[in-house]
Amino acid sequence: MTGRVRPRRVRLADTGPTVFTEMSERAARYGAINLGQGFPDTPGPAPVVESAIAALRAGHHQYPPVPGLPQLRRAVADHQRTWYGIDLDPAREVVVTTGASEALAAALLALTGPGDEVVVLEPYYDAYAACVALAGATLVPVRLDAPAFTLDPAALRRAVTPRTKVLLVNTPHNPTGSVLPPASLRQIAETAVAHDLLVISDEVYEHLVYEGPPHQPLATLPGMAERTLTIGSAGKTFSFTGWKVGWATGPRDLVEAVTAVKQYLSFASATPFQYAVADALRLPAAHFTGLLDSLRRRRDLLVDGLNDAGLLAHAPRGTYFVTADIRPLGERDGLEFCRSLPARCGVAAIPHQVFHTDPDAGRPYVRFTFCKQEAVLDEAVRRLSRLRHSRPASTLRTKGTNP
Ligand code: PMP
Ligand code: GLN
Repeated sequence: MTGRVRPRRVRLADTGPTVFTEMSERAARYGAINLGQGFPDTPGPAPVVESAIAALRAGHHQYPPVPGLPQLRRAVADHQRTWYGIDLDPAREVVVTTGASEALAAALLALTGPGDEVVVLEPYYDAYAACVALAGATLVPVRLDAPAFTLDPAALRRAVTPRTKVLLVNTPHNPTGSVLPPASLRQIAETAVAHDLLVISDEVYEHLVYEGPPHQPLATLPGMAERTLTIGSAGKTFSFTGWKVGWATGPRDLVEAVTAVKQYLSFASATPFQYAVADALRLPAAHFTGLLDSLRRRRDLLVDGLNDAGLLAHAPRGTYFVTADIRPLGERDGLEFCRSLPARCGVAAIPHQVFHTDPDAGRPYVRFTFCKQEAVLDEAVRRLSRLRHSRPASTLRTKGTNP
């Protein structure tokens, strides 16, 4: 090659690997139990795996239609009707994406740009900030109030300005595990309608609500169907996080906008998995309740274990994440704590801090996942109990033992 290499403009250049990658790498390095990145350690339903194998054997190896296989779009529409009474035209109001991640990216790139503000609930899933930045828009966080991580409607109203284009909502909520109660959903809907905002509603944990009112999509509230893009994922509901099949549903113009961008991101999403997920969405209700019952038991096991180990944890109403306050252990900084944890006691977790814009916010909170087998959680809890007798992460670092 001749000539000089020209300087490159690299978007997100100062970002580095995500916190999930960092903590999973640390877990692997120290042989730790990975309760950081949220992925189940059991396979999804066997008949759905068989559907994927059958699709491969049947030779479904080529590009599917850009917006997704018709049978999967129909299955998504039927799922929304069966569970929530939402009526969708599968041909125009559903688009299949490469995980919810692509749905989010395509939606934000399609609907927002420089000068637009996107209001998000903080702490926020890391991809929100990255995709808003890629779109050139501005992220406006509204802090959920600890320890129950509730939404203050006045804070939401204050966050909205004439430049607000989108409210990006996530319930059940990652990383806190909270579920917005009906009153908060009403307040969000009223704000969106009053200011004529678009809403992107990330509902990937829709089937993981353990107590209280069941999940209610924002799109079902008055005035919301026409302005809400709802995002779902087979990763969470069927324990196939690596299949990367997601979808966005909503009014035709919003779905068209997502599809227009999606065609230049992935063009289309993996064909055999689309056949399988179409079957998965038609699994009997027992699959959904069985998953929930099993996760509820594991949630309680981990929450009890965290409290016994000297952290302060409350049972989350949704998702497969529990948030723990590390201050009772004499710890101050979640990032430092999580970086030390794999070497200290053989467990990995995720600090809330990285899901905040203000680097001082969220410091005392750490997220652990319970989507692991009970025996694995038992062992994790046993290991975490060592924390009671170990010195805080900050003192370890000064001795050079903090990786
Ligand atoms: N939104 C939230 C809140 C998530 O937690 C995740 C992944 N864990 C995603 C979106 C992305 O989902 P997918 O893996 O289907 O891309
Ligand atoms: N969404 C998953 C979690 O919150 C991780 C996905 C990822 O690694 N980007 O744990």
